Amino acid sequence: MNSYHHLDSSTLIGYSAGSLPEAFRAVVSAHLSICAHCRTQLLDADRVGGQLMSQQEGVPLPAAARDSLLKRLAQSPVSSPAHREAPPRVHDPDRLPEPLWPYFGRSYSGLRWRTIGPGVHHIRSQVRDGNLMLLRIAPGRSVPMHSHGGNELTMILQGAYDDSLGHFAPGDVADLDCDIEHQPATSPGVPCVCVAATDLPLRFSGWLARALQPLFKM
Ligand SMILES: [Zn+2]
Repeated sequence: MNSYHHLDSSTLIGYSAGSLPEAFRAVVSAHLSICAHCRTQLLDADRVGGQLMSQQEGVPLPAAARDSLLKRLAQSPVSSPAHREAPPRVHDPDRLPEPLWPYFGRSYSGLRWRTIGPGVHHIRSQVRDGNLMLLRIAPGRSVPMHSHGGNELTMILQGAYDDSLGHFAPGDVADLDCDIEHQPATSPGVPCVCVAATDLPLRFSGWLARALQPLFKM
């Protein structure tokens, strides 16, 4: 399953069940913090998950899923109208989405980018499972054509890019599995900054790109 611009239903169900790797949870949370559409979809996933659990009486939940569920129940009832409302927005262009603060800090100006290629910078975060990184790609550049050994979830934070799947602007996510091969090209004007979660290394298609892959460390 793939979803362009919003979260895939299987991703939302995994998030609802507490079974996503930490890297993916961070990106899902960041998108949910700005997307009312996906917050509504999450309510449906919660209901489906609740029904499934009610039909499996006597089967214990994995500890991580149980802890996640209890935490969510303690935070707010899923049926609360407040859950569907957008959280208070602070119009500060230097402010990262709040769910990313534990991983990258609060402000874009505080980020310490590492150069990994001409016009390409990144910051990796330590997560328990999966890979979580910020990427900043200069305007008007192409990322090498690549497919994925696993899943990739990317959210655009600043700037934009285009690929065969469409135009991706701030707030959009690309929720891709290993069947997708794509070559994002950043829009002119401002650098494209995105946060990306992967669960396995990317597979670059061309021999040159493969040779560069150790440099990218992705
Ligand atoms: Zn969405």
